[in-house]
Amino acid sequence: MHTSGIPTGVDLLHDPLLNKGTAFNEEEREIFGLRGLLPPRVNTQEQQVTRVLENHHKLSTDLDKYIHLVALQDRNEALFYRVVLDNIDEMMPIIYTPTVGLACQSYGHIFRRPRGIFISAEDRGRVSEILSNWPQRDVRIIVVTDGERILGLGDLGVNGMGIPVGKLSLYTTCAGIDPTLCLPVTLDTGTNNQALLDDPLYIGLRQPRLRGDAYDELVGEFFQAAVDLFPKVLIQFEDFANQNAFRLLKKYQNQYCTFNDDIQGTAGVAMAGLYSALRITGERLRDQKILFLGAGEAGLGVGHLLVSALISKGLTEREAKERCWYVDSKGLVVQSRGDLAAQKRYFAHDHDQIPDLLSAIATLKPTAIIGVSGQAGSFSREVIESISSINRRPIVFALSNPTSKSECTAEEAYAWSGGRAVFASGSPFAPVTIDSHTYVPGQGNNAYIFPGVGLGVIASHSAIVSDEMFYVAAKALADQVSSEDLAQGRIYPSLGKIREISLAIALAVAEVAYANNLARKPRPDDLVAHIKSRMYQPDYQMILGSLTPTHA
Ligand code: NAD
Repeated sequence: MHTSGIPTGVDLLHDPLLNKGTAFNEEEREIFGLRGLLPPRVNTQEQQVTRVLENHHKLSTDLDKYIHLVALQDRNEALFYRVVLDNIDEMMPIIYTPTVGLACQSYGHIFRRPRGIFISAEDRGRVSEILSNWPQRDVRIIVVTDGERILGLGDLGVNGMGIPVGKLSLYTTCAGIDPTLCLPVTLDTGTNNQALLDDPLYIGLRQPRLRGDAYDELVGEFFQAAVDLFPKVLIQFEDFANQNAFRLLKKYQNQYCTFNDDIQGTAGVAMAGLYSALRITGERLRDQKILFLGAGEAGLGVGHLLVSALISKGLTEREAKERCWYVDSKGLVVQSRGDLAAQKRYFAHDHDQIPDLLSAIATLKPTAIIGVSGQAGSFSREVIESISSINRRPIVFALSNPTSKSECTAEEAYAWSGGRAVFASGSPFAPVTIDSHTYVPGQGNNAYIFPGVGLGVIASHSAIVSDEMFYVAAKALADQVSSEDLAQGRIYPSLGKIREISLAIALAVAEVAYANNLARKPRPDDLVAHIKSRMYQPDYQMILGSLTPTHA
């Protein structure tokens, strides 16, 4: 029997992309030299899932559950994705926020096996050689971080690798991107986190962060090497600090196929939330006044997308900007402030300075507040009561991650608004029952948007990722929210539908690529079938393909 290209025996069992563990059938055990290396009983994948879940549920902490799932991913990817996809509401908060934040904080301590490519500041001049150590040649999506702003947790240095690994797991889970096409990368440019520098088990460079030209050269070398080696790759920036994120996005977004999820993905998911919220409040986007707490990557990203959406509705740029107001750590973002970073100036209004959020609500009378500040508890009782006194249905999004950084909890938003808030958060909150009415908070999870955008971009071979793609993705996501969802106050669809949602987004995004001559391949007649055929299913039949004895 022809088994070329497929390892045999122990090597096959140790290859997570091919391993089926106890589910290798009798013929496969014979052909691939597995006899005796496995216990005699052949299990189905369903039985293996039962075993995984049984062990998972015995673990008492979320971090232990994370370690358990990552170990499964390292042994048997198909089984990992089967478990995650079929139990997505339970598993998403473990493989991504909030638990991934805990995992990154202790990455050096829980480290078992490396995953992805680590490029350090000492590798300047040989990045291409390092990237070519990756065993796959057809890489289509890279998620890259430099670990400087991990979720709302700050500088975690090389420990940030948990984020690209987690995001790429979501690409496969949510949009069916084949795991062999995915590459997590961390640029270890040092860390300014003293606790990590002092930690004997820290796994990164023990030096302060690289800045200036040396930093830019490393990033530039990485981009060039990545596209030279993997010409069809989409590169997603993730969790860079905002002084680099805005700059690098501007520098590279029209040069390479790249986007920044913290800026553009967040904008897409928040826009989708606003569209759904307006279906509840019965108001128009153009009549909103949105007050952001936090003028960083997330907040400004949402503002820019809102401005383009409003311009497309016929408003002038100036009118559109008047719908977006920002309070940062120094108060209202206004023109008279001399301390504003360049990216904030665009949204600085000609208005008197206001020192804090509560007074800004009283003066500006916003219809919505969006928290993207990383400041837990900043949507205080007074804040929620104040916005609720101005609006019949106030829109309250507390998007900071992880849960410990959320501006308020779901329960606080509903209780302090008398059940009137249309609420969404960045990390998940359980449904809340007040006076026998149950409210289901939506999670403005970027996983609703970026996997579908990535699928659409790679399916169409788009040369770049345009802003319009996020705008149509937001609309496609909002269209997936049912009236039953809205009746429960839920402004995002069930994650159980994530494959359908990602497909709808991918279609919309690919159409933008074709319409704007960005696609590097002609549009197939049946675009739905074309995209669907690229979606990975975590079924064992797919793994050994035509080389399995049954298909040979
Ligand atoms: P960032 O560092 O770029 O920006 C943070 C902003 O908050 C800055 O403008 C800062 O001035 C402001 N800020 C800090 N302290 C403040 C205070 N006391 N009062 C008012 N403003 C204050 O970070 P970012 O990328 O914009 O992310 C911010 C938060 O949003 C993080 O917690 C992140 O996890 C979260 N986020 C959530 C989602 C989501 O839910 N889908 C997506 C992206 C980011």
